[in-house]
Amino acid sequence: MNLYDKRLSRVRTAMHEHGLDTLILTPGAAMRYLSGFSETGHERLLALIIPDDQPWLFVTPALNAAQVRANLAGIADVRVWDDMQGWQTLLRDICTDLTLDIGILGLDDDMPARFSLAMQALMPTTLLKLASPVFGPLRAVKDTHELAAMQHAADATDALIAPAYAACTPGATERDVAAAVQNSLARLGAEASFDAIVATGANGASPHHHTGKSKLQTGDVVVLDFGAQLDGYHGDITRTVAVGSASDEARRVYDIVYQAQAAAFEAVRPGASAHDVDAAARRVITDAGYGEFFIHRTGHGIGLDDHETPFIVAGNRGKLLPGNCFSIEPGIYLPGKFGVRLENIVFVTEDGTAHAFNQPIAPEMPVL
Ligand code: ZN
Ligand code: ZN
Repeated sequence: MNLYDKRLSRVRTAMHEHGLDTLILTPGAAMRYLSGFSETGHERLLALIIPDDQPWLFVTPALNAAQVRANLAGIADVRVWDDMQGWQTLLRDICTDLTLDIGILGLDDDMPARFSLAMQALMPTTLLKLASPVFGPLRAVKDTHELAAMQHAADATDALIAPAYAACTPGATERDVAAAVQNSLARLGAEASFDAIVATGANGASPHHHTGKSKLQTGDVVVLDFGAQLDGYHGDITRTVAVGSASDEARRVYDIVYQAQAAAFEAVRPGASAHDVDAAARRVITDAGYGEFFIHRTGHGIGLDDHETPFIVAGNRGKLLPGNCFSIEPGIYLPGKFGVRLENIVFVTEDGTAHAFNQPIAPEMPVL
C-alpha cells in the first residue's frame, strides 16, 4: 500500500468513527495530505470528494485540470467544469450519482463560505459538519517521511538566521530585515511559512506586530519570527537580539524566557500533556514576576499548516504522542519597552522525550 492509500484508509476509518459519509475538501493542507496535490482554484471550485464507500474523485476548473491529473495519489477520476457551465451543475450531478444528499457531509474547515453555502443550497437536507475532527489527530502524528520533510524545512529556516542578523543594523527598517529573509528564502528555493515578523523596540511588545517602517536603533531589542516552507511543510522560529548594546533589563528578561523555553522542552516526557508543557514554561516566567506579560499559549502544532493541533495551551490535557511536532515559544512583552520571544520546533520521539529540529537557541541575548 502506498503512502496515500494508507492515509485514505485511516481517514475512512476516522470518518466512520465521526459519522461522516463524505468529505469535500478545497485546496489546503488536508487536500495536500491526502492527494499530494494542492493548487488554489481561487474563486473557482476545486475540490476532492471522498465518499466513505466509493472511489474518490476530483472536481476541477478546466484551467487546473492538467495539474490535478498529475496528483501524486493517482486519483484518476477527475471531473472538469468550465467557466461557461459553472460548477453547480456538475456538483449536483455528482451528488445525485453518489447519493451525497442523504448523508452527513464533512467540509474542509477552510472552505470559503461561497462554496459551503452553495453546497448547502444544492443539498438542503444534508447535514454539513467540519472535517477537521477526522484529520486533526491523523495529521498531528507525523510519519518518518513527514519528519524528514519537517527537518528540511527547519534546516532551511535555520539558514535564514545569519542573513537576518546581518541585516539588523542601526538605521535599517523592519521591512529591510524582512526583505533580507525573503531574499534568502528565494536563494534556498523555499517559500515563506508566513510573513516574517520583525519588531524593534516597543513594537516587540506586540507578539504579532505587523512589520513596518520603524528603524532599528542602537540599544533596541528586536524580535525576529520567520520560517521556510518546503514541500508544503512549515518551519517557524523566533530569535530575539539586541542592536549594538543590550540593557541589563533586556538581558535579564531574555534569560527568563530562555529558561522558560528550556523548561518546556524538558517537560516533554512520556505521558506528558500539552498542558504540562505550557505549565513548565509559564511557571518559570511567573516565578520571575513576569507572569502577566506572557500573554499567549506556549506553542502550536505545525506541519502542512503553520498552526495545527496539538496546541500547547493550559487546559489541553491531551497526551503528547510520538511524532507530534510543535513549537515551544514563550515570551515576555513589556508595553512601551520591548518584547522577548524564543521559539524552536520540536518533535516527540519514540521514547516520549523532545528532539529539536532547529539549532540551539543562544543562552544569552546576541548583541549584533
Ligand atoms: Zn513563529
Ligand atoms: Zn510559532
